[in-house]
Amino acid sequence: MSLIVGLAAGLLAIAGCRIDALNSALAAQSGRAASVLVKDKIRVHALSHNPAENLLIDELVELKTEIESKTGLDLSAASPIDVYLFKDETSFHEFTAQANAVFADRRAFFIKTEDALNVYGFWGMRVAEDLRHETTHGYLHGTFPEIDLWIDEGLAEYFEVPPDARGVNTPHVRLLIDLHQKGLWQPSLERLESITDPRQLTQIDYAEAWLWVHLLMSSPVGKEVLTTGLKPVEHLARVPWAVEVSNMLGDAHSQLLDHLEKLHRGIGTYRPKLSVTSHFNR
Ligand SMILES: [Zn+2]
Repeated sequence: MSLIVGLAAGLLAIAGCRIDALNSALAAQSGRAASVLVKDKIRVHALSHNPAENLLIDELVELKTEIESKTGLDLSAASPIDVYLFKDETSFHEFTAQANAVFADRRAFFIKTEDALNVYGFWGMRVAEDLRHETTHGYLHGTFPEIDLWIDEGLAEYFEVPPDARGVNTPHVRLLIDLHQKGLWQPSLERLESITDPRQLTQIDYAEAWLWVHLLMSSPVGKEVLTTGLKPVEHLARVPWAVEVSNMLGDAHSQLLDHLEKLHRGIGTYRPKLSVTSHFNR
């Protein structure tokens, strides 16, 4: 899962260049377009018919309500998000190869340009998870002009799991517990928020970003830090997240590790319900 956005002028130019390549590669596939489904902020461009299309678009529309109700953010002003959905992994990778995309190894990705919020993915075993992740980026970037990379990815990892999972991303819990027990990982929000290039994020960084978001989402004070920090600051230097989180929560790093332990003890009891993926799977 990836995010390529115009966070800086240089990257915006690169993204603009890529969107042209993506559009022309897409045009080559457009003869196969089966339908465009539109609902609320979501336009699904299904490049092949699939019986689960309506369920999928409903899930992506409901995702906005879920993000709003769980965070308290107002996403009503978000711009429309175009979701381009390929028939299968092979046709998706033909498309990314044709577009000479640097993210050709990804299952899905999100691109923001000056006038578009585009998600690209394919029908596969993890389509619901992938599109919930990338569409979360779409809702956030369609609402906030700037968003720091770590919290953008942390929120996307939080909301990619089905709503009844309460944001618990089980593979991340297992990875961080394992690394911490082996002495191979210690949390550092200062380090995490210093990363501004999405290509530098490792799997551990995604997991840690998710864990910080999960900790913040678990208390009213944390949620306030999260929502306040996302809003634009005018005429003032932004306080670093690490400083703000420590000011509000105290010893944030030890709280984070306690939170991880608690989640680890709880994941054995969670059983996911059926979602769009289950309806679709071959
Ligand atoms: Zn992402």
